[in-house]
Amino acid sequence: MSLLQIDAIDVFYGPAQALWGVSFSVEKGQVAALIGANGAGKTTTLKALCGLIPLATGRVTYDGQVISGMPVHRIMDLGISLIPEGRQLFPKMTVEENLTIGSYLERTKPARRANLERVYHLFPRLAERRLQTAETMSGGEQQMLAIGRALMQEPRVLILDEPSLGLAPTLVREIFGIVKELHGRGLTILLVEQNVHQALQVADVAFVLENGRVIMSGAGSELIRNPRVKEAYLGF
Ligand code: ATP
Repeated sequence: MSLLQIDAIDVFYGPAQALWGVSFSVEKGQVAALIGANGAGKTTTLKALCGLIPLATGRVTYDGQVISGMPVHRIMDLGISLIPEGRQLFPKMTVEENLTIGSYLERTKPARRANLERVYHLFPRLAERRLQTAETMSGGEQQMLAIGRALMQEPRVLILDEPSLGLAPTLVREIFGIVKELHGRGLTILLVEQNVHQALQVADVAFVLENGRVIMSGAGSELIRNPRVKEAYLGF
């Protein structure tokens, strides 16, 4: 049984249909990547599976339980954490305050201190800057903070929307290094990325979205060699 299963979901924004029968599944411990051009429906898919926008049809199953139709906080409480595009940190609050806000779920409160230490161990730079406000951090550090805040929720599935957007190449590599590290620790990861080359390199499995439909899927290592993917997304 897949940890996360998306079955034939349709999503509309008013009269406009954004997703058409999107189906895919992610196994426990996998890194999965959703790739596609601007407007293909990647963010919409992530929002739909986290309960942030309603499905018109179809369903989402997590660990054998249907979660579509549940409120967002329940879905998060079950262990799915989304790091939205643009990070959505609290800019005037310190690093530590932003992290602490991540552990608002009742089930994670008792382990707040231990989880903070775990995040600081994973991101020593956040530990050094724990009293600095989020707005004074670099883009890469802010992305680390957003990931750290999500980890405070003790997720089983971490969903990242464009984690490398706007970052310099060295920081992009660093963020993908973190993804690999979290994968190595057994976390299941679903990733949306414009940086298709990097995404396919880390992905056990990837799904290509075009105009709101999944048009191709396969192992990252397979898709990276696929002529159509190469031409459309890798620029050669
Ligand atoms: P990007 O990389 O540009 O974020 P994406 O693949 O994540 O692209 P979505 O943001 O999911 O694409 O958008 C899918 C489609 O839904 C697009 O046609 C977009 O214009 C439309 N759309 C997205 N958000 C809304 C909204 N709030 N209201 C109306 N239409 C929307």
